[in-house]
Amino acid sequence: MNRTIIGLDIGGTNLRIGAVNDNKEIIVSRIMDSDILSKAERPLEKLCSIIQAFIDENRLDDVGAVSIGVASSVANDFETVICTTNMRNDRGEPVFEHTNVAAFLREQLRIPVYVNNDTSNILFCDAYRNKLEDRRLVIGIYIGTGVGASVLIDGKLFKGANGAALDLGHVPFYKGEDPCICSKKGCCECYASGWKLESLLEEHYPGESIKRIFLDHGDEPPLEEFVYSCSHVFSVMATIFDPNAIVYGGGVIDLDGFPRDRFEALVKENTGLDVMSYGFDLIYSSPDNEKGIIGSAIFAEQMLDKQEA
Ligand SMILES: [Zn+2]
Repeated sequence: MNRTIIGLDIGGTNLRIGAVNDNKEIIVSRIMDSDILSKAERPLEKLCSIIQAFIDENRLDDVGAVSIGVASSVANDFETVICTTNMRNDRGEPVFEHTNVAAFLREQLRIPVYVNNDTSNILFCDAYRNKLEDRRLVIGIYIGTGVGASVLIDGKLFKGANGAALDLGHVPFYKGEDPCICSKKGCCECYASGWKLESLLEEHYPGESIKRIFLDHGDEPPLEEFVYSCSHVFSVMATIFDPNAIVYGGGVIDLDGFPRDRFEALVKENTGLDVMSYGFDLIYSSPDNEKGIIGSAIFAEQMLDKQEA
């Protein structure tokens, strides 16, 4: 069936919207600042008007669904955003907190609307591009400002009891004492994240550019420790899930000079031996800003097929 899916990727900085065809190609897309939502008096109404305007401007008359990826956990209904920690209004409140985004939009737009965690949509796209959809167990871990993770079991998302599973950035590191932005201490992100890397730059290499940190200092102890911390959470996940493949990427790993060979060796060295007796593929996901839009369309297709079945 020919149908266009409207995919959205709403992160802390950018909001991307695109129309995706059956061949998983973006026909037309737009990018805007995410603060268009955080500054809006009524963010849900604003989001609705952005989508409606995009449909009208591009004369899209065969829209099968709207599918939204958002930087937050999403409840198991695939409608309710749990908390946009990284997107807040002027009063410091999350833009969406236990907000049923899909129900409102569906009522206004009169088409199916699905909401998903942004990392999960990116993994859908990576799994598609790397032909991993039919594998038994695929993990995606992305280290950007924070840490995002997703798991596909037989191509379907692993969600946990409520949808809050895999908040990997806040997995406790043993005896970690560093304060985390979430208010706990010693979380993964305190040692392995973009914001930790920024703080290392400030502490050890003040005035230098983050873009060159691995090129200029990758072999020095602070960066070696940092890469080890990043690999640690991968080894934990591999040991828990026994994956066929782990896809990895994100702004930190995409930096020039990030020692991917050393990183991959560390991940495998520290993964449990039973898992390593089978082994798994580590697949680097090269940077591409369209993955979130394409992945949200793939997710919508899965949801539509489920409803039609
Ligand atoms: Zn935390």
